[in-house]
Amino acid sequence: MSLLETLKQWEGDFQTEVAQVQKNPEAEVVEQLRVRWLGRKGKVSTLYEQLKELGGEERPKVGKKINDLRTSVETSLERLKSISLQHAIDAKLTDRKLDTSLPVSRNFMGGSLHPVTLIRTQFLKEFRRYGFSVWEGPELEFDFYNFGALNFPDDHPSRDMQDTFFVADRQKLVLRTHTSNIQIHAMLQNPPPIRFIAPGRVYRCDNDLTHSPMFHQLEGVLVDRGVSFAHLKGMIDAIVKALFGHDVKTRFRPSFFPFVEPGAEVDMLCTLCRGKGCRVCSQTGWLEIMGCGMVHPNVFENVNYDSEAYTGFAFGMGLDRMAMLAFGIDDLRLMFEGDEQFHNCFPVYPAR
Ligand SMILES: [Zn+2]
Repeated sequence: MSLLETLKQWEGDFQTEVAQVQKNPEAEVVEQLRVRWLGRKGKVSTLYEQLKELGGEERPKVGKKINDLRTSVETSLERLKSISLQHAIDAKLTDRKLDTSLPVSRNFMGGSLHPVTLIRTQFLKEFRRYGFSVWEGPELEFDFYNFGALNFPDDHPSRDMQDTFFVADRQKLVLRTHTSNIQIHAMLQNPPPIRFIAPGRVYRCDNDLTHSPMFHQLEGVLVDRGVSFAHLKGMIDAIVKALFGHDVKTRFRPSFFPFVEPGAEVDMLCTLCRGKGCRVCSQTGWLEIMGCGMVHPNVFENVNYDSEAYTGFAFGMGLDRMAMLAFGIDDLRLMFEGDEQFHNCFPVYPAR
């Protein structure tokens, strides 16, 4: 039989063997099939051995056919492997009988809530007292919601690859860099007045001792007739005091964010040294906790709000940082490592 004829016959043989294995797709059987065909002394190897003896013109043509057979064998084996795995899982599941007569374990270990969840719950509770509803928004976001509508100029540095995870360039899809995208969704869907907060995950190309590529923010917006900066100041101060203690002062420093005018950063008295100066507050006695300001008229224009009739404020803070300050956690990495000892420091959930 010529090599070409052998090849043709073996192609058929392989298909028959595959059909056989499919009836009983056990891992061991699939492995045997693999060894028989792709092993060091397997059939495909023998074909290559015979190819060496073949003369000039025919060689590349037959060689290609052998390559094709090898590829098809490899593909089939991959498929059989996954069928075999699924088969094993199914078998295990049907096998396992649940013994409902066993006694209930009394050593049930309750889990605990993550510090970020704990601080988020506290903030949500406080803001609800001021009539804020809770919104969520997409983490995969169009440029328009994450930057454009929020008054970010095209050449703003945060649009740089070094800060933003771009997902698809053509449609300008990004992983949201802040929860402020939710402002645009909420305002486009609701005419004023509106007041809401929006917690969520955000992403930036940052990874060192004090930065993580994923972290949590809490955003808030209030728009109504006659809203002023004084309302913002009063409310933030009251909420910080409610969460961190009535002697914790706040201060507002002018700052710039494209979507607010005027903008400010909020500091609170250092919760560790109470203003005396320590390592955590870099000896200043103050800790920066959030950015805020009056919603920029351009943002109102982008969501079809009448900026003559309405004013509003917006604020945003990092929940990971707030949790660290609230619970005295001094290393950001602890928040993401899932260390059991660390998590056991927090209240057990559900509470008993
Ligand atoms: Zn301090």
